[in-house]
Amino acid sequence: MGELAYPFDSAPLPGATMEIAPGVLWLRMPMPGSLDHINLYALEDAAGWTLVDMGLGDEITQRHWDELFSGDLAGRPVQRLLVTHMHPDHIGQAGYLSERFRAPLHMTRGEYFQARAFSAGGGFSKMSWESTAFYRGAGLREDDFAALRRSFSGGYASAITPLPMGYHRMEHGDVLTIGGRDWQILVGSGHSPEHACLYCRGLGILIAGDQVLPVITSNVSVHPTEPEANPLKDWLDSHDRFLSLPDETLVLPAHGEPFRGLRKRLRALIAHHEDRMLALEEHCTEPTVAREMLPVLFRRQLDTRQMVMALGECIAHLHLLLHRDRIERVLGEDGVWRFRSIDPDLARRLRAEHEAPDDGPMMV
Ligand SMILES: [Zn+2]
Repeated sequence: MGELAYPFDSAPLPGATMEIAPGVLWLRMPMPGSLDHINLYALEDAAGWTLVDMGLGDEITQRHWDELFSGDLAGRPVQRLLVTHMHPDHIGQAGYLSERFRAPLHMTRGEYFQARAFSAGGGFSKMSWESTAFYRGAGLREDDFAALRRSFSGGYASAITPLPMGYHRMEHGDVLTIGGRDWQILVGSGHSPEHACLYCRGLGILIAGDQVLPVITSNVSVHPTEPEANPLKDWLDSHDRFLSLPDETLVLPAHGEPFRGLRKRLRALIAHHEDRMLALEEHCTEPTVAREMLPVLFRRQLDTRQMVMALGECIAHLHLLLHRDRIERVLGEDGVWRFRSIDPDLARRLRAEHEAPDDGPMMV
């Protein structure tokens, strides 16, 4: 993967901050499972703090925010909430903080309204006919559906505090002046519909959210809400906007450690997905169901929830291959899609070796 440089040898504890550039504070909030934490950032301005991402909507995170406001962030109000994208670990406390400080929420339109839609029911909270058709098409069987129903949780709304009822729209190219410095909004896609990143040329800092992560790969998945989506294409296309940033840019990701080596990381991620796609092409020389292709991408035995996430990622790779005319798909009378390689040049492109499959899909 190539070596990235990690300039900090420690990280802030939840409830504390670490100033990593003038007026840029790094915060951490806890997360369950192997993800362990989410990184948040506070940008200082005489008028108050601009907070970038909010943490999960749970009580522990809220308690840590309360500690911060009577500790490291005391003495200034929160002026503005800036949420990179609608996933619960990023938007979770936006409702609480917005109420507490009467602070406006800044998001892209796609992310805000997707959050509003999901909080009204959606995601995994119920099995609609669209979800059933999608997962049946991917090869899930009756016993998988039963296990999936058993694993349903409260859904999106239960993972966040009630959403602010209004927002300020951010668009690609917008500039926010915070503490006398210009922060440019760079919008990416693929991990979520309209993911906002913040770039400050003066400080040489990119707040990357989940768009670019240092160790794990961002989840890029097709979901039942948009079964014909091609998010991996969106995600790869987005990289043009980030590959042109200076390589010495300090990248502040939502998970993992701040790093330098943005272009190296992007090139490694692009190579990773290209390799995964080639491995899938090689695997489906005969008509193959998505579910049967999971071991090509993931090594670990997956539980039902993980399998559903893994399927989303697998289908994202297959849809980009379809778009490139490398494979075709046929819908059987059983409602199941079967994919088959059709590129006559595949033999010439074959590789003796592929990257080892990932351990498991990550919910980021
Ligand atoms: Zn995310």
